Amino acid sequence: METSVGKQLVVFDFDWSMADQDSDRWIFEVLAPDLRRKMKNMKKEIQWTDLVAQTLREFHERGGTREQIEGTLRKMPFHPAMVRGVTDLKGRSSPTTTFLCLSNANIVFITTILKAQGLETLFEEIVTNPAEWDPSGLLKVRRRVDPDGPQHQCRVGCSPNMCKGEELEAFLKRHQPGYDRIIYVGDGTNDFCPVLRLRSQDMVLCRRHRGLEKLIAGYEGEGRLNCQVRYWAGAWEVEEIFGQL
Ligand SMILES: [Mg+2]
Ligand SMILES: [Zn+2]
Repeated sequence: METSVGKQLVVFDFDWSMADQDSDRWIFEVLAPDLRRKMKNMKKEIQWTDLVAQTLREFHERGGTREQIEGTLRKMPFHPAMVRGVTDLKGRSSPTTTFLCLSNANIVFITTILKAQGLETLFEEIVTNPAEWDPSGLLKVRRRVDPDGPQHQCRVGCSPNMCKGEELEAFLKRHQPGYDRIIYVGDGTNDFCPVLRLRSQDMVLCRRHRGLEKLIAGYEGEGRLNCQVRYWAGAWEVEEIFGQL
């Protein structure tokens, strides 16, 4: 498998995979812990993207500003080894590497954070929930899959706002003839669906101690996973694995 990889695709989940925090939760932990608590309490009743949108509205109604949110995103934990690892990998000429982001956060959070880290040109595409600032400073976030339109067909357990497996396949269709190898970096239960679609020459870099690890362990033990599995806990280990590709 190590032979003849000319083109590879690195797919990154964002929260707790590329970044060392969860952006949806982080801003409220920093700016409005009572709203963070409310989110935790309502998590089971309201779809997560809708809950983030609703909490942003509440924050705006009590006078919270765009500047506060942007400043908080810019200082969100992000490991320097991750910045180094992806920058070095992208700069290497053989194999060539394309980066794709698949995230259940939103486009404003992700681009604001990437810019602060000097990574605004890293990704070929960022597939996530749409969001925009309105002139009053309210951040309006919507589900990628409109709740009033046709829903995705995933049965693996993806959240209604987006199926990452379907999104990965759609990306691959848009970028024919494809990649010799796909490397998927993820941590959460919603990263399991795309991982199930990886091939034997592909690899998942699974973060320890989070939802994805348990799901993979069950499948791996039964020999039901096609791809190779590498585990990591800190971003320095992702950098290390990238260095060996
Ligand atoms: Mg994640
Ligand atoms: Zn799915």
